[in-house]
Amino acid sequence: MYDCVVIGAGIAGAVAARKLAEEKNKKVLVIERRSHIGGNCYDEQDAYGVLIHNYGPHIFHTGMEDVFAFLSRFTDWHMFGHEVVAKVDGELIPVPFNLNTLHMVYDRKLGKAAADALEQKLIGAYGEGSRVPIMKLRENEDPDIREIAQYVYENIFLKYTMKQWGQKPEEISPEVTGRVPVLISYDNRYFQDKYQGVPKDGFTPMFEKMLAHENITLQTGVDCCKRLTFAENEIYLDGVKFTGDVIYTGALDELFDCRFGRLPYRSLDFYFEHYDEHSYQGHSVVNYTVSEDFTRITEFKYLTGQQDANGTTIVKEYPFAYSGAEGEIPYYAILNEENQTLYEKYKALTDGMKNFHLLGRLAEYKYYNIDAMTKKAMELAESL
Ligand code: FAD
Ligand code: UDP
Repeated sequence: MYDCVVIGAGIAGAVAARKLAEEKNKKVLVIERRSHIGGNCYDEQDAYGVLIHNYGPHIFHTGMEDVFAFLSRFTDWHMFGHEVVAKVDGELIPVPFNLNTLHMVYDRKLGKAAADALEQKLIGAYGEGSRVPIMKLRENEDPDIREIAQYVYENIFLKYTMKQWGQKPEEISPEVTGRVPVLISYDNRYFQDKYQGVPKDGFTPMFEKMLAHENITLQTGVDCCKRLTFAENEIYLDGVKFTGDVIYTGALDELFDCRFGRLPYRSLDFYFEHYDEHSYQGHSVVNYTVSEDFTRITEFKYLTGQQDANGTTIVKEYPFAYSGAEGEIPYYAILNEENQTLYEKYKALTDGMKNFHLLGRLAEYKYYNIDAMTKKAMELAESL
């Protein structure tokens, strides 16, 4: 009845399903455990009519033309240069730390001339327009640059990272802190990609259009663990041997009853608040890098561009260690050698199954943005 099965209707599953259905003319069954599609990109209107991102703020950004062109078939965009500020000493400063931030901090501390000299030092050391990871900046031997690095480390990275990961910046993968480098430029944007924004009518309608294809059958509220079984490198769907391709985008340990122990993840609690006011913070995202127990506050109307909302809705994010308890969601793989070894142990259980493919943030135990995930899903579907 079906040629392929895709587990999960997040960006990975939805893109792969669409490509297989449309370009390979495959009959695709998509099984999604949640009651909705979109995975963590899911958005909807709250009780007040404000469009919110239920699983935290999502901004699409990419420099990949093919990815942008593919997703643009299913949505128009509300494009903007996404900016983030951090609340430090009662002031809102641009993040990533850039030359604007440098002057905000050091003009007052040292005077304009000294701040200009610091700027020239940074440009001399790294070149105008460069992106320097904080952990690299800290290695610089010039005392003035070290002082800047120390300021950035203490005021932007240390406490935020402790909240987000329960570990210090030097204890986590440099790949993670490297996502938010120090920018030797006056660019206040959080990302430097050519295309950035959100789907004009929201992410969920984009997913609806992507999955609306005559070759796609979508079943939500269904856990694949109840449908798929494995024996001797064969896959069984509802007890019947299935020889077509199966793409799995869920957590790999769950598929095998966590028999080697759980793969560690960080999770988040989202606390939504609605205010009967025009504006709460006047910014889409404010990071709390030195105070509070939450990492950031997102005010959705500044992210989505929604004009007709009554009042405003915000969300605060409280990180914690994922335990696997009912209702918890594994959001962030914790990238280190030990966890990678455990992941490989699970992956080895799938190696003999040539028609079984692991795709996605969970199944690959990786840190993917939406665009990289889209690209990977496109490539996988093309290869099948
Ligand atoms: P998911 O979106 O997690 O989808 C996997 C789907 O599989 C889920 O719907 C799940 O219910 C389903 N599933 C799992 N197990 C089963 C099962 N057993 N049976 C059936 N279905 C199952 N990226 C950006 O580019 N920009 C951002 O601004 C951004 N912000 C983010 C903010 C937060 C808080 C987080 C956590 C991530 C953010 N990301 C962002 C990353 C983005 O969410 C991911 O790249 C993307 O969601 C990955 O898609 P996916 O399909 O791999 O996973
Ligand atoms: N980070 C930080 N302070 C900030 C922003 C980011 O310490 O103001 C660190 C933190 O460790 C975070 C990482 O940089 O987990 C990557 O940030 P990014 O915004 O890319 O994380 P995302 O929420 O997109 O996964």
